[in-house]
Amino acid sequence: MLLLDEATRAALWQRLGEVIEGHVEGVRSLPVAPRLDPARLRAQLETVTFEASMDAVAALDLAVEGLRRHQVHTPHPRYYGLFNPAPATMSIAADALVAAFNPQIAAWSHSPFAAEVERHLVRAFGARLGYAETDGVFCSGGAEANHTALLAALSSTFPAFGESGVRALEKAPVLYVSSEAHHSFLKAARLCGLGTAAVREVPVDAALRMDVGALRGRIVADRQEGRAPFLVVATAGTTGAGALDPIADIADVARQERLWLHADAAWGGAAVLAPELRHALAGIERADSITLDAHKWLSVPMGAGMLLTRHMQVLERTFRVAAGYMPREAEGLDVVDPYAHSMQWSRRFIGLKLFLTLAVAGWEGYARCIRDMTAAGRALRARLERAGWRAVNETPLPVVCFVDGTHAQGAGAEYLARVAASVLASGQAWLSTVTLAGSRPALRACITNHRTSPDDLDALVDTLATCRAEAMAPLAARP
Ligand SMILES: *Cc1c(COP(=O)(O)O)cnc(C)c1O
Repeated sequence: MLLLDEATRAALWQRLGEVIEGHVEGVRSLPVAPRLDPARLRAQLETVTFEASMDAVAALDLAVEGLRRHQVHTPHPRYYGLFNPAPATMSIAADALVAAFNPQIAAWSHSPFAAEVERHLVRAFGARLGYAETDGVFCSGGAEANHTALLAALSSTFPAFGESGVRALEKAPVLYVSSEAHHSFLKAARLCGLGTAAVREVPVDAALRMDVGALRGRIVADRQEGRAPFLVVATAGTTGAGALDPIADIADVARQERLWLHADAAWGGAAVLAPELRHALAGIERADSITLDAHKWLSVPMGAGMLLTRHMQVLERTFRVAAGYMPREAEGLDVVDPYAHSMQWSRRFIGLKLFLTLAVAGWEGYARCIRDMTAAGRALRARLERAGWRAVNETPLPVVCFVDGTHAQGAGAEYLARVAASVLASGQAWLSTVTLAGSRPALRACITNHRTSPDDLDALVDTLATCRAEAMAPLAARP
C-alpha cells in the first residue's frame, strides 16, 4: 500500500509535475491572501476519515486545492511580507530529489555526497562573508541558528557549561541584543536555561541601529552588579525595518569586553553577494558566528538556515557526544559526522536546494537577483512617497516602513491596521503592520520575490490608494 504500482506512480509524478509548473505559472492569478474560515476548512478535512483508501491522484489534488485556497501565497509577486521567498526553480527540484533519496545526514559515512555538499557550501559562504576558515551547520532556520550560536558562545566562554549546565556558573550570564532584534533570542535563552531575563535589549538610535554607547554602559553596569556578560548580537538587517547594526563598532566592544560576537544576518546577510552592498555589512567577518538563512533572500524553500563560525573547534565542543550505535566506517578519514556539530541528529539534506540553485545561477546570478530586488525596494519607496505615504525607516535593504503623510491620523496604529486589513481583503497584495522602536506603528512592505516587477509595485501603490480611502471613511464619519 505504501509503494504504489508503476502505472499509478507514473500518473502521480506526471500530475505532480503539472501541478508544480501550473503553480509557478499561475500563482500570479490567485488571491494573495485567503479568506480565513477555520470551521469550513476543518469540516472539509473531516470528510477524509482514513477509513476508505483514496485514489492517489485524487488525494494529491485534494492537497493541491487546499494549498491553493488556504494559504498566503508567499511565492506571489505581490506578497510584500515577512521574508518568505518565491522558491528558485532548482530548489524545488532539489527538495523533491532529497525526499526520494532520503539521505541520512547524521553520520558522514551514510551520505558522503550530502555531507560534503554542505561542507562545500559552508566554506563558500563563509569565504564570501570574509572568514579565512569556516565551520558551520545547516539547520531549520534562523531561530535554530541563533539558538546554536547561543549554545556555542556559552560552551566557548564557560568551560563547565557543557557538562554541568548554567547552574554550575558562578555568575549569571547575560547577553545583549538591540531592541529591534529577532525574538528568537528570547526563546533561545529559555531553551539554554538562562531565562529571558538574561537577554538585555539595548536601545536603538533614530535609524533603529543599536546604540553602541548604551551597549557599553549596560555591560559596565552588569559587571558591577555581579553578572557575566558573554555574548553580543549585531543584527544585520532587522526583521521589522531592515536596520543594520554598526557591526564594526560592536566588534570593537566585543573585543575589549571579551564577548562572543554573533551576527544575525538571517535575511540581510545575502547582501554580501552584491559587491555594491557589501559595505553595509562591514565588520561581519569579525563576528565569531553568523546566522544566514537560505530560505529568505537566497530564495530556497523552508527550512534552510545556516550557522557559520570562524572557530573550527567550537561546534565539536558544543555538540559532540559519544553514541555507540552510530556508524564507524568513516573513522580514520578526515571528515566530520554532521550530528557531532549540530543540534539535530537525523536530518534532512538541507543544503542541496542551495547547492543546485547556486550551481545554476552562479554567484553572479544571485548578485543580479539581490541587486534587482534592492532596486525594486528603492523604486517602491519613491512611488509610495509620490503617493503621499511617508517612509519612516532608513536601510539599503528592500523593505519600506511607511505611514500616511496626507492627514493627521495617518500614523495612527488603528488607521494603519485598517489599511493593512483592507489590502489583505482585496486579495491584490499582502503587507503587514509593524511597530518600530516599541511605539511607532507603520505599514511594512518588503520585496521578497525575485519576480516582483515594476507593474507589481504600481499595483501595490494603487491598491493602497483604494484601501486608504476605505480606511479614511470611518475617520470622516466621526463627529
Ligand atoms: C527571520 C529571522 C530570524 C528567524 O529565522 P527563521 O528562519 O524564521 O527561524 C532570525 N533573525 C532575523 C533577523 C530574521 O529576520
